[in-house]
Amino acid sequence: MFFFLSLTTDVCLLSSLRQLLLSQLDYDPLNPFSVSGDELKPVYKGTPSARCSFCNAIYLPAMKGTKCVVCEMAEVGKDVVGLTIKK
Ligand SMILES: [Zn+2]
Repeated sequence: MFFFLSLTTDVCLLSSLRQLLLSQLDYDPLNPFSVSGDELKPVYKGTPSARCSFCNAIYLPAMKGTKCVVCEMAEVGKDVVGLTIKK
């Protein structure tokens, strides 16, 4: 009996904790999204975004022009030609 009460209390506590975390995450599970590289916030499909020119990490448009925090090698949102091989 004690185990059952403890398990029920734990499930209720976990459910409340899950609701609290989901309310603080600014997360919509019905829309497809990618996670931004700097703040780990969702960047939903179809919304404006910027990508790292080297590792292709996605960022919010406000991060355009800054150094990528994932690879620390390239500028976010910069248009580049990419790697070319010449003979
Ligand atoms: Zn990068």
